[in-house]
Amino acid sequence: MLHVDLDAFFASVELIDDPSLRGRPVVVGGGSARGVVASATYEARRFGVHSGMATALARRACPDLVVVPGHFDRYEEFSRRFRALVLDLTPLVEPLGLDEAFADLRGRRRLAPGPLELARGLRQRISDELHLDSAVGVARTKLFAKLGSKRAKPRVGSRGISPGPGVLWVSPQLEAEWLETLPVDALWGVGPATAAKLGRLGLRHVRDLRGLEPHVLATLVGPAMAGQLAAYARGEDPREVVADRVAKSVGHDETFAVSRQTRAELSADLRAHAEVVATALRERGVVAHTVTVVVRYDDRTSVSRSQTLDFGIDDAGGLRQVARALLASVPLSQAVRLLGLYAGSLRPRAGAQVQLRLEVDVAGGDALSAAAANSRQHQGDRAALRDAVDEIRRRFGRTALGTAADLGVEGIEARRQRGRTAFGPDQESPEH
Ligand SMILES: [Mg+2]
Repeated sequence: MLHVDLDAFFASVELIDDPSLRGRPVVVGGGSARGVVASATYEARRFGVHSGMATALARRACPDLVVVPGHFDRYEEFSRRFRALVLDLTPLVEPLGLDEAFADLRGRRRLAPGPLELARGLRQRISDELHLDSAVGVARTKLFAKLGSKRAKPRVGSRGISPGPGVLWVSPQLEAEWLETLPVDALWGVGPATAAKLGRLGLRHVRDLRGLEPHVLATLVGPAMAGQLAAYARGEDPREVVADRVAKSVGHDETFAVSRQTRAELSADLRAHAEVVATALRERGVVAHTVTVVVRYDDRTSVSRSQTLDFGIDDAGGLRQVARALLASVPLSQAVRLLGLYAGSLRPRAGAQVQLRLEVDVAGGDALSAAAANSRQHQGDRAALRDAVDEIRRRFGRTALGTAADLGVEGIEARRQRGRTAFGPDQESPEH
């Protein structure tokens, strides 16, 4: 198994697009008080800056920090080229996010060159063709391969940045050593909460899990995870590389520079959200069978509402109707800092058909089923319109066509770019 992970991916792409940033502490993230760091160069990490950190804190830790807003379309472009390079090794490639992938090389076992040479060659091509640094782990299992790529990365210490090996083979000796010394949170699926739970019982290292009665572990973390952790602790990992994994959901969320106070404002936001999500669904050639609206309040608590549909949806108008009906059931007792719209239960569009019901009984149903019935109608009626819009955008670019309601001072694209505020808003209070 091979696991390859691009170094400081978003930030590195920004350095390619603006070489004047090279050597400086740079992060990609939201620049406002609510912004979050999504990716940090190693120069920034020297100051203790890391992804997930509030941008305001990062600025305090590193006064010269350069904060760049994210350019998601560029990351997706580099990500596609990255995957193409991995796919040159084998069709058995499982991407994880935009900047990581597993590749199963077992089918090539008898072929020269061997896995280590393939790993070095891949890393070289990523450097030559994409101008990005990466780390590769080669191991018997996915778990060890991923741990291997992590250890192959550059290290940041008080003396500066030291390069890592770049490619690391996890030999049987190294496996045995890691199984003795690794903390439990090195294991797949063990986050801080689980690690704390295990730690309270003195289970701090992977070796502590070995020999533990299965039912004891099961009462702590549930039976499914207990089985998995026990296997990891023995050095086993039955997980295969799953090629062509379709994304589980397509979504868009926005953290507002100024919290939204009214349902009318949020309802207007859902129009833009629905357009972004519907476009992303059609670009992927999938339709969704569930729609979820997530609202996060100023006190950081969240609520979500979901609706399952008996038809596949990729129409913006239909999506908006269902989303608004869901929003109507969300209490607005306080201001809203984030609004998200997610489309899930994705299936390939090919073969998905909307059976038109000529008689739709909306009178007896509640608002949500009325919205779903209307959406079903839109999904069927507007197929030709969606195809025409997509064709125009394909030929003349995404900004060629939009609805008047979504046109802002910055134009169509600026308002609609997916992931644009994924790391928090770029600017403070644009309305002021
Ligand atoms: Mg990475």
